[in-house]
Amino acid sequence: MTMPFPQLVRALGITAHAKRAPLPKYLAENLRYGGTAWSVTLRRGPGRSLTTPFFQGPFYHDPPDAARVLSSLLSDASSAGMSFGEFCSEFGYDHDECVSQHTGRPLKRCRCRTTWGHIEKMARKVRAFLGADYEEALESAREF
Ligand SMILES: [Zn+2]
Repeated sequence: MTMPFPQLVRALGITAHAKRAPLPKYLAENLRYGGTAWSVTLRRGPGRSLTTPFFQGPFYHDPPDAARVLSSLLSDASSAGMSFGEFCSEFGYDHDECVSQHTGRPLKRCRCRTTWGHIEKMARKVRAFLGADYEEALESAREF
């Protein structure tokens, strides 16, 4: 029996500090249909913190809270560990867009590679942030 996610977040003493901030380029297109851009720092006890950009849809009016931000990070983290090719086919990225028209070689910095890189990096940070509570949080977030 897993604890409801917001309750688990409280039990772990995780708090969110959100401020308005522009999204990094690879996420910025989320704002096309409205919504707001945030930078959120999650804190847990002394010395453990994690800062992430966060997009919030137009139907939310309050700043994002710890449970929503962390569940979103966990959802991303659960798709980490794929190769770049697997990631592209899983999420329907079009590889042709990512190849230089000039040389026919993959671009070093296409949007999907940037997104994949950020998901991989953030997944490691989320694991470090949650430590031994990672698996339980992952499980509980699935039902949130
Ligand atoms: Zn690409």
